[in-house]
Amino acid sequence: MLKSVCVFCGSSRGNSPIYETSAKELAVALSNNSLDLVYGGSNIGLMGVVASTMLSLGRSATGVIPTALYEAVEQLEGIELIVVDTMHERKSTMYEKADAFIALPGGIGTFEELLEVYTWVQLGYLKKPVSLLNINGYYDHLIAQLQHSTESGFMKQHHLDSLIIESDPKLLIERLGSASYSYIPKWQ
Ligand code: AMP
Repeated sequence: MLKSVCVFCGSSRGNSPIYETSAKELAVALSNNSLDLVYGGSNIGLMGVVASTMLSLGRSATGVIPTALYEAVEQLEGIELIVVDTMHERKSTMYEKADAFIALPGGIGTFEELLEVYTWVQLGYLKKPVSLLNINGYYDHLIAQLQHSTESGFMKQHHLDSLIIESDPKLLIERLGSASYSYIPKWQ
């Protein structure tokens, strides 16, 4: 059963209000399902939107942040903050604490986090569902690239299919809740 979900998302808000609106809707869907948030820990961009909406709904938000970023950016009052030494320590703490992962629109920081957990699932290091909230078709190009990798023989269809993709936050949470993990070795 899911208890907490890690959300990777932009430290920017994007240039359309739809990103912020959907980030808030995601927080509402998490809260309605009694789920808590694990995230990157600062109060900027979509990260701040998701975390502050969770707090306003009475849910808990755990932020995991390395010291250098902690000193450089604004924090949100009311979250449980875990300050770690390195980016690697941060990511492994987030991966341990969460039962599932969602990527909202973001930049390369978000891509890196999403692709790392997706890779770890592919290799069997993590056995937790990974998903994309494809707001406004933001991830259409990434999805097309993953399909191209599969068609070109660099990815298995099973691993492509294991990535949960939804544009509706409520449906996404439902799918994460019922997702099952089946490991197929990459080189079999
Ligand atoms: P980006 O998508 O490039 O804006 O990077 C966002 C992702 O990288 C988030 O999920 C965070 O975990 C991490 N990140 C990037 N910038 C910051 C920041 N200023 N404070 C905290 N985390 C950040």
